[in-house]
Amino acid sequence: MLTPVEKIIFIVLALTSAGLTFHGFNVVIASIRKGRPAPELKNVPASLVKAAITVLFQRTIFKARKGLSAIHMGLFFGLITYAFVNLFDALEGLVPGFDLVYGGKHLPNAPTGLINAFNLIADVMSVFLLIAITVFFVRRFIVKDKALDYRENILLNPKVKAGGQARDSLIVDVFVVMHVIAHVLSQSFRLTEGADPFMPFASFLNSIFGASETGVHVAWWVSLGWVMFIIPYLSRSKHTHFFMSPVNLGLSKQNPRGQLDPAIPLKMIEGQKYDPGAKVIYDLAWTRVMDAYACVQCNRCQDVCPANFYQRPLSPSALEVNKRYLLKEATFGSHPDRLLIPLTESVISPEAVWSCTTCYACVRVCPVGNEPMADIVDIRRRMLIDGYELDSGVQNALQSLAANGNWMSKGKRLRGRWAKEMEFPVKNAIEEPVEHLWFVGDTASFDERVIPNTKMVARIFNQAGLDFGIMYQNESNAGNDVRRVGEEGLFEQLVEQNMEAFGKAQFKQIVTTDPHSFNTLKNEYPQFGGKFEVKHYTVTLLKLIEEGKLTIKNKLTNYKVTFHDPCYLGRYNGGFTAPRKLLELLGVEFVEMPRNCENSFCCGAGGGQIWMGKVAPGERPAENRIKEALTTFGESANTKTQLFIVTCPKDMIMYSDAVKTTGSEGRIEVRDIIQLVAEAVGVEESVVAESTPSPA
Ligand code: SF4
Ligand code: SF4
Repeated sequence: MLTPVEKIIFIVLALTSAGLTFHGFNVVIASIRKGRPAPELKNVPASLVKAAITVLFQRTIFKARKGLSAIHMGLFFGLITYAFVNLFDALEGLVPGFDLVYGGKHLPNAPTGLINAFNLIADVMSVFLLIAITVFFVRRFIVKDKALDYRENILLNPKVKAGGQARDSLIVDVFVVMHVIAHVLSQSFRLTEGADPFMPFASFLNSIFGASETGVHVAWWVSLGWVMFIIPYLSRSKHTHFFMSPVNLGLSKQNPRGQLDPAIPLKMIEGQKYDPGAKVIYDLAWTRVMDAYACVQCNRCQDVCPANFYQRPLSPSALEVNKRYLLKEATFGSHPDRLLIPLTESVISPEAVWSCTTCYACVRVCPVGNEPMADIVDIRRRMLIDGYELDSGVQNALQSLAANGNWMSKGKRLRGRWAKEMEFPVKNAIEEPVEHLWFVGDTASFDERVIPNTKMVARIFNQAGLDFGIMYQNESNAGNDVRRVGEEGLFEQLVEQNMEAFGKAQFKQIVTTDPHSFNTLKNEYPQFGGKFEVKHYTVTLLKLIEEGKLTIKNKLTNYKVTFHDPCYLGRYNGGFTAPRKLLELLGVEFVEMPRNCENSFCCGAGGGQIWMGKVAPGERPAENRIKEALTTFGESANTKTQLFIVTCPKDMIMYSDAVKTTGSEGRIEVRDIIQLVAEAVGVEESVVAESTPSPA
């Protein structure tokens, strides 16, 4: 179809486009390689294949925004189809007689059925692409969906503030629309023999505009000429994600969710000296430099961020977007010096760094496997080393942890005081062997508001005949939140103290009441040689009931309850089933809040937030959660007592406060699951019976 001169022009254009594209991706890859060594990845080919399948079926995008995700899925398949459409269009232009309309009937030995099927798919996909692009265009430019925006207090690259993302989207939207329309018009102009039933959209246009040799020519050039310009542009725009997100997914975190990367790479580049954490962008592991190129800039992570909800200046997506713009300015632009700007001045503000609750929701929801939270922890690590002035509450907590092994400024010897007040001896696991070593944690050991529940756990274990003990003053804080605050040195000190204690004790497994301790003991102590079987107390309780060691005497049918999944039990470690099974066995009426399991909403205490002295104004995540529970229960008159069930000592405090501050007393009560178990198995009754003197 093309004249010889046009063919030469097209080939020169195609080669130039390929060269610019190659250069673009070379720059991208070179900049990724400048990041620090990442934790070793195992079986990369298999991971990449798995990622390709994930991308093909668009599995990860449906974690949120289901309707828009379905449209995005169609867009994805449309673009894949168009990769073939463009190939065949190029052949139609370059190879004389190559024509796929009417099932390719003018081609010798053409597989007519296959061609008709392809033509039909391409035609339908053309319509779908136009609809999908229109939806996304209307969303961004007409409706101006707030989910795509950032709040004023969030640090943004000046180019993002000036509308860089919108311009990028507009360019690609206009390209897709022009490209698709030009392609379908080019096909419609080819229909010299009237309608082709396998090309309904092209046939419709043919009925309006008719066939035209010139039309084919012009439309062909508009369609494929655009492609020559847009492909090199992609590596310089946010649409790099078309190519980088599958790779990023394939090379994403392989170690357990609850295990942070070390502060200094385990595998060093020879001759290179590393300071802990990250000050500038190339202090991040290369996999997390790549996150910026893989980011779809969809803001799903911002939607689920409790700190963002709480009006704090944190947006995990802004972090990735800022990284992307910084890299673009330094690599494609003329500002390589910007790579030396501290991350706290270029991608995330210090206030935002210290707002993160390390809830993992951003990482979990990200469709391309990004880890903004890990960047934040690395930035914290370096800020601490560089002498950043911490919030006074965090400062006090860390000082107490260093001196006393707990954050509550209590003497070590007081850790086991609650146990000495029990009506039966609680074994010291350092002095005598036990089957279950109960790692109690700071809040459950020291906080007067939680100690009654701690004692209840002990009574139930005792009633069930569980062979358990605690480490009394030899237990130190497990260090989960210390590590997430960025104090790697103190974390290691706490690990060392606990490992020494574990070394003295004899036990078969560890049971914890605190999900934070549970997480680090299970996932991070193995990095220090501490490989233990670690269970959360909900699992232990369930087992005791299932084995008949605890008998449910009273079904708790008078309660209507909902359950809050703590981040470090649920999202981090998949501990969703045991609490729900327990509630079922207890006979309560259970209703699930909309945000549950993986999608649970953080209480706002993690990552050291519970230690913060300053409380920001605005509705706190825990208050929002209590409102969610009340909405779930409904406004109708309820004869049952409405309970908000927790399985974390910190949650007990956070949500009890939130009930008060939201004025919800009398409508909902916060209870630890152990209180319900105690009521159901009649532990309190037996205690009373034991301690009541017999009548003379
Ligand atoms: S870990 Fe949680 S609080 Fe931190 S950035 Fe991600 S979603 Fe926000
Ligand atoms: S980090 Fe992930 S979830 Fe957040 S904007 Fe980027 S792609 Fe979306």
